[in-house]
Amino acid sequence: MAKAAEERPSAVDRMAIAARLKAAYPSFVAGIDGNDVVFTDGTRLPFDDGKDKTFEEWQREPDIEDMFRLSYPRGAPAAPPERDFDPGRARNADFFKKIYGDCRKPGFMKSLTTIAWLPGKTTQKLEVTTINGVADRLKAVSAELDALPSRFDAFLVPSAGAFICRRIAGTDQRSAHGYGIAVDLALKRSHYWRWDNGGGSENAPSYRNDTPPEVVDIFEKHGFIWGGRWFHYDTMHFEYRPEFLEPTK
Ligand SMILES: [Zn+2]
Repeated sequence: MAKAAEERPSAVDRMAIAARLKAAYPSFVAGIDGNDVVFTDGTRLPFDDGKDKTFEEWQREPDIEDMFRLSYPRGAPAAPPERDFDPGRARNADFFKKIYGDCRKPGFMKSLTTIAWLPGKTTQKLEVTTINGVADRLKAVSAELDALPSRFDAFLVPSAGAFICRRIAGTDQRSAHGYGIAVDLALKRSHYWRWDNGGGSENAPSYRNDTPPEVVDIFEKHGFIWGGRWFHYDTMHFEYRPEFLEPTK
């Protein structure tokens, strides 16, 4: 099997993961104590459920430890990823709900704000969360993308959307878009494994990408991972996952 079958982290890795979580979610994560992730409000979530998971289980029901199984190859040239190499695609729902809230619950919408998307190129507005500094990070991304020459425009505008309370196609899992942490670029120049395989073979998507590296670099610099680095690729998709990327201050 590919990287998804690697062993679970040792105690040393656990400390490294605690440091990454604290740096990525500074107002929320206090640390790891025993087998619990401890939050600044004193609540806890289990870190490791102790299960050895297949790729499908890893993707469907990751614990917090599982989210770190694969490291994210920041800055690498776009290339067909190894089998089941989907770094960041596993999201522990309890963790993300704890940080960003549950979009099905009353009151969730007050965590969202509207930002102008590339105001030099379009009048489009996007809805994203203000929690954990996400809206400010996306504004910084937008300002840098806005400064790119017009040959990039077809990739960037119109955006295919940001916040939407939905599940991932073909699954029961909440999409990153449901937490208000994700943005999709222009549909026209994008490739998604489910479309490119006529409804999708999980096992043999044939990698395609047109998204320019300049665009990917700007997002990664601000803490957003790119779905174009996944075996199950989604080249228009970016989501704020600073536990994989230390954002530039
Ligand atoms: Zn997306």
